[in-house]
Amino acid sequence: MKKKTFVTLEQLREIDKTIPTPYHLYDEQAIRENARRVNEAFSWNPGFKEYFAVKATPNPTIMRILHEEGCGMDCSSLTELMLCDRVDIRGEDIMFSSNDTPMEDFQLAEKLGAIINLDDITHIQCLLDAIGYIPEKISCRYNPGGNFEISNTIMDTPGEAKYGMTKAQIIQAAKILKERGAKEMGIHAFLASNTTTNDYYPTLARQLFSLAVEIQQDTGMPVTFINLSGGVGIPYRPDQEPADIYKIGEGVHQAYDEVLGHAGMTNVKLCTEMGRFMLGPYGCLVTKAIHEKHTHKEYIGVDACACNLMRPAMYGAYHHITVAGKEDEICDHMYDITGSLCENNDKFAINRMLPRIDRGDFLIIHDTGAHGHAMGYNYNGKLRSAEVLLQPDGTAKLIRRAETPEDYFATLDF
Ligand SMILES: *Cc1c(COP(=O)(O)O)cnc(C)c1O
Repeated sequence: MKKKTFVTLEQLREIDKTIPTPYHLYDEQAIRENARRVNEAFSWNPGFKEYFAVKATPNPTIMRILHEEGCGMDCSSLTELMLCDRVDIRGEDIMFSSNDTPMEDFQLAEKLGAIINLDDITHIQCLLDAIGYIPEKISCRYNPGGNFEISNTIMDTPGEAKYGMTKAQIIQAAKILKERGAKEMGIHAFLASNTTTNDYYPTLARQLFSLAVEIQQDTGMPVTFINLSGGVGIPYRPDQEPADIYKIGEGVHQAYDEVLGHAGMTNVKLCTEMGRFMLGPYGCLVTKAIHEKHTHKEYIGVDACACNLMRPAMYGAYHHITVAGKEDEICDHMYDITGSLCENNDKFAINRMLPRIDRGDFLIIHDTGAHGHAMGYNYNGKLRSAEVLLQPDGTAKLIRRAETPEDYFATLDF
């Protein structure tokens, strides 16, 4: 299967007149349509809400678009909470799912009226110390330990993960929270990342639904919402099947009817905290070929580097690359596509077959909409790039300017 880009060479040339490469570009129409599909896939559950994982793409314009489509925001830090406040997103439109949480983060979460999701049983006392009471609506994060398996395939190893409480702890936490004034609770778990099977959410949901029944029966604490968190993946490679959110929604629905329906708990609301699935495919990194080098290998040097997109250097992650305007040309050249960092892992692609690339060509690095710009950094004195929104009418809007050397120097004492 061929991976399509959402921007044409003509549009890139137009943007280039005012915004220099590299920059991350987002497709507003596609973001909205995907968010609508998510909401439709779970519309059988009244009260369903997707809380977009802000860390994936912490940009006010993106957050507003998703909020307009009915999404809340999932925050994990003080600054992400402040960002929501500045975008006028507050109250139960914020899920605060943090870990190793500083006091002041709990305080701001409470002040904004966010739903607080506790990572550990000891955080009950921390929250009491921070805000002086236990909110009536509260959430706890669960970690079953061991391996997370779907039909005998190990998907991930929660037993090695620092997050969440054991089963005994979460049941104990429910009792304590009830004694301290909580009236209802939610449970949350994130057990596998970037999953490409449609069975991840249904399998996770079944575990959480059973746990919810057990907690409610054992402790009398009403479990009123269940948070499937993030982890739904996207097809980074052209030969991968995309997850089918409708099938996922149906699979969760079936587990809901079987487990919660059977226990008479049919008022439980569902939520998700997807980041990658909401934004990943709807953003790309646009960069220009500025050098070609013929040594022991064939290199194309581009004006972006790992500071703009860390995933290939950090995880060896595959990101598809399209040469704008050469979509239909034969891929008969093998290249390493490199950035300029003094690190030999600064390569967006290794031994990649692409059409012949000329200096000045625009390279589109796909699927950078989530955990792309957000993971950027300043190593080698590199400045964080701009973010640009491709609007439904085809025009581009700058939604974050690129850093300047003045930004880089702003924290220094000369
Ligand atoms: C990172 C994260 C998410 C989002 O994960 P995706 O893989 O982007 O869907 C959601 N919730 C929590 C608590 C996270 O840490």
